[in-house]
Amino acid sequence: MYNRLMAIVYLSLGSNIGDRVGYIQQATSLLSAHQDINIVTTSSFYETEPWGMESENWFVNAVIQITTTLSPESLLDECQRIETQLGRKRNGQGYSDRTIDIDIIFYDKLIFNNKRLTIPHKYFHKRVFMLVPMLEIADDFVHPFFGKTVSSLYEAIEEPEMVYLYGTRI
Ligand code: ATP
Ligand code: CA
Ligand code: CA
Repeated sequence: MYNRLMAIVYLSLGSNIGDRVGYIQQATSLLSAHQDINIVTTSSFYETEPWGMESENWFVNAVIQITTTLSPESLLDECQRIETQLGRKRNGQGYSDRTIDIDIIFYDKLIFNNKRLTIPHKYFHKRVFMLVPMLEIADDFVHPFFGKTVSSLYEAIEEPEMVYLYGTRI
């Protein structure tokens, strides 16, 4: 199904415990250490309200653009390996605080769904914490399923949650 050509991929990085910025930086550098992954662009860091969970701990989020020859599933393996290396604990159902979360948002124009992987990320178009960093680095990227740009998906959100450039939250 996949060839070994270079794919352009957008990843979402998030952390809400400990040295949040440090975890995102470490995740980025561990990704770039992989011989089949190149980091192309990194968004600014944003501070965002927890989404769909009760936690008091705000997130730091960023989006990075990479190129890779890894298949989507091998890339997910690598993301999960790095999450574990950076102390991510999974405790059953639902959302919980995490040192690092790495999600695949887009993999070229691929539309793919199996038990383990949904691409594009199923909530991208609803999440300001993914849309805003993505706006910064690729506002005219067209969502392959909705056929709409990142800008127009963002404009369609009626009550966007608060997202602050890191360091500007009072
Ligand atoms: P959400 O998916 O709502 O952002 P989460 O990131 O907190 O939630 P995790 O516990 O990190 O959820 O991951 C649960 C599972 O989601 C993973 O084991 C993985 O198989 C699956 N998954 C499906 N699609 C993707 C994707 N595009 N990127 C990363 N993981 C995905
Ligand atoms: Ca996630
Ligand atoms: Ca995840």
